[in-house]
Amino acid sequence: SSPFAHVQQLPRDPVLGITEAFVADSSPRKVNLGVGVYLDENGHVPLLDCVQQAEEELLRRKGPHSYVPIDGIAAFDNAVASLIFSGERPSLDERLVTVQALGGTGALKLGADFLRTTNPSARIWISDPSWENHRALFSAAGFEVETYPYYRADGGLDFAGLIQTLSSLPSGDILLLHACCHNPTGLDLEPYQWAEIQALAAERGVIPFLDAAYLGFADGLDADRVAIDTFAQAGLPFLVSFSFSKSLSLYGERVGALAVVTGGAAERGPVLSQIKRIARTTYSSPPSHGGATVATILNEPGLTALWHDELALMRDRIKAMREGLAERLRVQVPDRDFSFITRQRGMFSYSGLSKEAVEMLRSRFSIYALDSGRICVAALNKANLDIVAEAIATVLR
Ligand code: PLP
Repeated sequence: SSPFAHVQQLPRDPVLGITEAFVADSSPRKVNLGVGVYLDENGHVPLLDCVQQAEEELLRRKGPHSYVPIDGIAAFDNAVASLIFSGERPSLDERLVTVQALGGTGALKLGADFLRTTNPSARIWISDPSWENHRALFSAAGFEVETYPYYRADGGLDFAGLIQTLSSLPSGDILLLHACCHNPTGLDLEPYQWAEIQALAAERGVIPFLDAAYLGFADGLDADRVAIDTFAQAGLPFLVSFSFSKSLSLYGERVGALAVVTGGAAERGPVLSQIKRIARTTYSSPPSHGGATVATILNEPGLTALWHDELALMRDRIKAMREGLAERLRVQVPDRDFSFITRQRGMFSYSGLSKEAVEMLRSRFSIYALDSGRICVAALNKANLDIVAEAIATVLR
């Protein structure tokens, strides 16, 4: 018999399942709010001008498609370290390891595999709720994954619960935090709360791991660095996974980076060597096109400035859609408070819609959201805003 006869069918990915159902829907008014990508006003994944110009420049250079180093293109790693740590970089540089990774997911996986080698009995703590792949990814890396309180039933942030959990963690455990634009809730911590978490994690010997997949989508690159800056200024070891998928609309190119702030200059070489071994035995070296494109943008001031402008346009469009949705709902369902929609940050809104409401949106209005009630605000546009607001108002009434 076949050696695979006993292999079990796994449930399909819930997000991809929604997309399949959306594609099969023949309604001309259908809207997919289940996506995890930024769409422009016309409902398309944008090709940013800065990306196109960088790609044209790469094409003109007619470079060969050779291997890039295991830890990535040096000009990429260097520029990304400056992007992630900005003004704090000089104080960290001699103990900083930054390697190109296969998107934010690849960076998380490199970090997970590395942390596993340093302490196989450590557990990792993720927020409740979190990006659905966090649990799966760290479990697959061999970790026991636990959750800390984050989202309260009333829509607020359970900071007391977070602190209480953190206060009980043993030294060596890992605390995964969303650097900004928490996915899926859109709720971020205040600067004083970051400071408190940093101090407590330091006291407990807990290792912070910041997932930065949406830097620049809340208030801009500098303002969104508040969490990273807080940990960088403390000067203790921590990790950052960084993704260019959303901020440069480079999803399929798989561009990201893992940064590890080690405990001192002597640790830099050994840590880098371990991470390179993991990369070498997993995918050998990262893809060159996305890395070269990002390196070109970050190393040419004109293209960097263009990127900042284009990022601001994406950020402002999302904010306008939040305001548009909240305003329409306020008018149509006056007895409910929708101000949370404009307070939430990043691409998503945790709408508070029940599973039943999400089901009704789907069956009656061909509007697709995640069962959790998460909707992608970046999938709204002037053409579908009224349709979506009316449908949500109807299922809420
Ligand atoms: N981390 C979070 C919180 C995310 O939301 C995502 C993507 O949706 C990622 C990481 C993964 O990013 P990438 O697509 O670059 O692998």
